Parts: sequence; structure tokens; C-alpha cells
Amino acid sequence: MSLDATLQFVGAAQQVTGSCYLIKHNNKQILLDCGMVQGGDQVREWHSFQFSFKPKDIDIVILSHVHIDHSGLLPLLVARGFNGKVFCTPSSAELLPILLKDSVHLYLKDLEWKNKKAARAGKKIQPAQLTLQDAERVEKLCQPVPYKKRLVPMPGLELEFADAGHILGSAIVQLWLKGHKSMRKLVFSGDLGNPTTVLMYDPAEIGLADVVLMESTYGDRDHKNIENTVQELTDVLAQAHRDGGNVFIPAFALGRTQEILYYLALLHHQGKLPQRLIFLDSPMAIRVTEVYNKYLTRLEQKDLAAIGFKPGMQLQDLLPMLRLTEKVEDSMAINRISQGAIIIAGSGMCNGGRIVHHLKHNLWKNSNHLIFVGFQVNGTLGRRLVNGEKRIKLFGQDIVVKAQIHTLGGFSAHAGQSELLAWAKAIGGQPQFYLVHGEIEAQQALQVKLEELGISAEIPAKGDVITL
Ligand code: ZN
Repeated sequence: MSLDATLQFVGAAQQVTGSCYLIKHNNKQILLDCGMVQGGDQVREWHSFQFSFKPKDIDIVILSHVHIDHSGLLPLLVARGFNGKVFCTPSSAELLPILLKDSVHLYLKDLEWKNKKAARAGKKIQPAQLTLQDAERVEKLCQPVPYKKRLVPMPGLELEFADAGHILGSAIVQLWLKGHKSMRKLVFSGDLGNPTTVLMYDPAEIGLADVVLMESTYGDRDHKNIENTVQELTDVLAQAHRDGGNVFIPAFALGRTQEILYYLALLHHQGKLPQRLIFLDSPMAIRVTEVYNKYLTRLEQKDLAAIGFKPGMQLQDLLPMLRLTEKVEDSMAINRISQGAIIIAGSGMCNGGRIVHHLKHNLWKNSNHLIFVGFQVNGTLGRRLVNGEKRIKLFGQDIVVKAQIHTLGGFSAHAGQSELLAWAKAIGGQPQFYLVHGEIEAQQALQVKLEELGISAEIPAKGDVITL
């Protein structure tokens, strides 16, 4: 029996960023995620951006997790009139302000630079579309809801988060939409974790559902085995040591960075880490690591025992050679070190952040090694480097790429194809699946595999509307 409710695929339809879905139910409008499309120029993106709905008409937002491709447009949503509650898990509520303030700060800095250039050329100055206060307002609108706690955010709607095992606070969103005579259960997977991910539990199994929105980032492949990936990391670190160079790891501040710190701590614990210095060169990653530290003892204990963790310890305690470089001067000073260091800096896809400065100073040296540990979206500098481009332009300068580039697939925080299939198969009630958050090739491959299991899955296009 259907219900008087619709869902529109506003974003992350046939692409991996910009997660956003609009539910209309009982004359109310509910937004599932409000993510930013990544890989482009943020100033240009935000200045031409139009929501396909009126932000002030949205009653509530439900957030699966705080990665910027799921949450990044919240400040803009607020700046343009949204004033409802943002439901998320308690650790998401702690992490969200760190990410949003960083993102707005980067935008404002970029805009200032562009405006200076425009002024010099006698061109028009662009006014800011939003301010840091908008990010702060999002923080005030947050309503933390723990996992497994059923809540009624509005009449006719029940909400419960389940652990998605992807990053700290990540959730699978379960919604029960109630009509006069019918009820439908909608499940939104958010980003599903990789079961081999350390520090996280496995994605929770969902009992029954009528409609499932499932991510499909790695719908076409399984990840490399984690033991092999750790061995590859060990080999690259040893090679960099022999080559007399440094190792650069572009990493997302949230999740991946803490995982990498964990594996470096593991190698150190096992006596397999030749580097004498590790820099965590990202103020945001440092802050996020502080939040992770608060939750460490609640995370998977089996992983922590392997690195010599004892209650009360912090990730930093397990890596005595770790330096946290908060200040810009300290970050710049790293460029004076020509060998023996590992530098972890954002952004994870090299389309901004301190890593780009390090790349400018280091990509041309063949003794250096660059390790990619996460998905590189089309159009980003990271993707171009992974694709083997040998000449790039950074800050107006031509740079030849001589550093050795490695892609380590096993550290992904996303479920691979087999895990996606297993998660989908375990859901009862023969729900209709819609594949989201994936590039089309990955989605089509997953669709075929799901159909082999007797599961019907559609691949919606951006803007498509379904009746629930
Ligand atoms: Zn994510």
C-alpha cells in the first residue's frame, strides 16, 4: 500500500558526492543529508549554487554522517533561510562544527584571494554568500540522537540511527513514514563502512524495509585484502627510507587520518617503521583526532590491543615520533626536511589544503613517495596524479611529477562490492532498492549482481522523484 509521500534524488545520483534527498510527507519537507559536490572550485560552486527547493520550507534535516559530501551545504542552507533541527548522532554533533567551520573558512580565504585579484584587475568584487556564523548556527540546530534510540521528530515520522561503521558517528538512517492507513519503512544506508576498518564496528544489519537507498561507491569491485595493503604500506615506507626521501599521504582529516595513524602505530609497535618523524599537518585533523581520542575506549578493543593501547591513552601516545603541526609556520618548516619523514596532510584528493603546498615542493624529486589511501573523484588533482599525469600546474608553476605514486586500495572506509551485496541480502521484506552515491559504471555492476540475488535495484538520475 502506498503512502502520500515522495522522495526526490536531489544529489549524489550517479555520482559520489553531493549527497542530498528530499522527502515530502504529510505536508512536511525532510532533507536527508545536505552534502557538497566535491572536486570543483568552491567559490564558483557556492556563488552559482541554487537549491532546487526553498531552504526555509525544509522542516528538518537528518544527517547520516559529517563528511563534507554529506553535510557541507548546511551552512549555505542556513544562510538561505533554513531554521529547523538537524538530527544526527552525538559524535556527529561534536565533529560537525569542526568540519563546517573549516570548510567555510577555506571558502572565505579563497574568496578574499579572488577578490584581491579582481580588484587589481578593476573587476567586480563578489560578496560572500555565507559567513562563519552560519556554520555556528548549524551547530546550535543539532539534535543529537544516540544509535538504536527511536524518536518522533514530527507527527507521522519515526527515526532511528544504526551504526554504519564508516567513520565516528556515521549512521544508517531508518525512517518510518506513517499515513492514514499505511506505514512504509525507508532505509538510507549513508556510507557503509568496510568491515576491515579498524576503530569502527561493522555496519549494522537492518531487519525489514520497504525502500532502501544504498550507497554504491565501490559497487563494481572488492577492496584489496587489508593484510596485503598493510604489507604494501610497509614496503613503500622501507623503499622511501632507502631512497632517502619523504612520504606524503593526502588524507581526509576525518576517519582516514586516524586509521593511518593506527597503522603507523601498529608498524611502530612491531618495529617496522623506519621513519623518525611523522607530521600530522592539518589543524582540522588534529581537532578531529582529539574527538576520536575521547571515544577510543568505546571503539573496537581488538584493534587497540594490537598497537599496545591501554585505557586512558591517546593515539598520539602510541607514536612518540608524531608531531602535530597546527601553525602555518610549522607546516612550512617541514619543507626543510628532505628525508626520513611521513607527512599526513589534507585534502584527501589534493584539491586544496596544505598537501598542495607540499606537492609543489616535493613532486619533482624522485626520492619522494606519495601514497593515496582513498577514493579520488574525477576532476581532482589526486585523480590526475593517480592516472599518471607527468606535468601539472600548481600556483601558476609548472611541476614535473617524478615522485613515486602509490595507491593503496585496502584502507577504504567504504564497503566493497561483496559487503554491499551481503548487507543488501540481509534486509527482509523484499524492499525496492535505489542505488545512490556511486559513479554509473559502479552502479550498473552492482545492479547486475543484486538482480542475480533476486533484488530489484534502480539507478535514479538527479532530480528523479519516486512515490514512497
Ligand atoms: Zn563518508
